[in-house]
Amino acid sequence: MNNIEIEDRTFEILLENHTISKRTRLIGIQINVDYEKRCPVFIGVLNGSFLFMADLLKEVEIPCEIGFIRVSSYEGAESSGSIKEAFGLPDNLHNRDIIIVEDIVDSGLTLNYVINEIQKQVPASVKVCSLLFKPAALKVPIKELEYVGFEIANEFVVGYGLDYVGLGRNLKDIYREKTVLSPLP
Ligand code: 5GP
Ligand code: MG
Ligand code: MG
Repeated sequence: MNNIEIEDRTFEILLENHTISKRTRLIGIQINVDYEKRCPVFIGVLNGSFLFMADLLKEVEIPCEIGFIRVSSYEGAESSGSIKEAFGLPDNLHNRDIIIVEDIVDSGLTLNYVINEIQKQVPASVKVCSLLFKPAALKVPIKELEYVGFEIANEFVVGYGLDYVGLGRNLKDIYREKTVLSPLP
């Protein structure tokens, strides 16, 4: 039912677009209340956050600035993440209220690195808004994680910005990898 194939893997539906939209709207309303008169800077982490960023910002009605960063991914257990490029950010984040927008917090290693880099500019505040959060996969606590769309189990997901081998980011729903039950011995 509603399975999709990407390369060698099979995925099944986890979150439909209308469910994502409803939750995104609620987060936007909360941000409008929390950041009234603060003109926050939203920083989307590319590529995964591009759809969530767009849909979230359509719900944000307060004055704000919007930019993006690209981060090199970590390898193995050690974070080698670093900010590779920044697009459209204000020259200076000093004294600004920052909201980092992510697709998913998995180990938290990438985000931990990004937050440390941003803190060097001494902003007024840094919070994280992530569509998905896998609590069971977390390796470093992210105290800045303020807005979470959905907590999910420790499984691999694709769609709505998230890819498998570069594919699937354009899917409007989110899918999880189907686990194949091994035959009984
Ligand atoms: P973290 O540093 O928290 O482990 O995750 C870094 C990045 O890995 C996330 O922002 C996301 O782009 C990617 N990632 C983590 N879990 C998943 C997943 O289940 N599916 C996909 N497609 N990407 C993931
Ligand atoms: Mg990401
Ligand atoms: Mg990826």
